[in-house]
Amino acid sequence: MQLSISLKSDIGRVRTINQDHYLAEVLAPGVALLGVADGMGGYEAGEVASALAIEHLRRLASAKPLPTEQPELLLEQLKRAFLEANQAILAGQADPHQAHMGTTLTAALVVNASIFVVHTGDSRLYLISQGQITQVTDDHSVVGELVKSGGLTEEEARVHPQRNLLTSALGSSRPPRLDHYQLTWQPGDTLLLCSDGLTNHVFADELLAALQGDFAGLADRLVALANERGGTDNITVVAARWLGGDAP
Ligand code: MG
Repeated sequence: MQLSISLKSDIGRVRTINQDHYLAEVLAPGVALLGVADGMGGYEAGEVASALAIEHLRRLASAKPLPTEQPELLLEQLKRAFLEANQAILAGQADPHQAHMGTTLTAALVVNASIFVVHTGDSRLYLISQGQITQVTDDHSVVGELVKSGGLTEEEARVHPQRNLLTSALGSSRPPRLDHYQLTWQPGDTLLLCSDGLTNHVFADELLAALQGDFAGLADRLVALANERGGTDNITVVAARWLGGDAP
């Protein structure tokens, strides 16, 4: 299996600091760990929270060997990394400058044709296969839940006054909701993780259209598009393509 990675994290055009963090590591042939964390909670604290989330994911990557033949154990280890990150963030809130820090975290562990996903918050994971794009994760946000139930359109959600209100994240007083998914993919497919700084400005069909160009430049093109449309938040894109087969 040959994987190609395209990634970029950008401050955007409005914020003074980039509070997103990401991870994209190939751990072994056919095994890769990808993650996006979007921090929140006041000046610099959000950056601390998202860095802690990615650090705990990275620890998982270095804890070799991963039980790649045991899907349930893999998902359990991924979830444990989330819970340990959550504990570290809650402990860090003792510092008054970090009292309200929190972060989203979306992680995907690729093991050949399988993809294990754990997710909390409103960053997203998409799978693009055979010319179709699927949003795999649900947004854990007030507006995300309204969109899912049909009470709000995507367009309305983007300008909704409560669009930044999350219903689950790491660092919250309530235990995080950890959704998990096990997917399969095939040669030519693309996995895309991103923070809401991208999806606030770029629709799914536009993500699909952007895949037409060269893959290495994909993240750059998407970040540029979000910035052209205002770049109102930090923008992070981590994409992986399983090379071979027909690209979408
Ligand atoms: Mg954001």
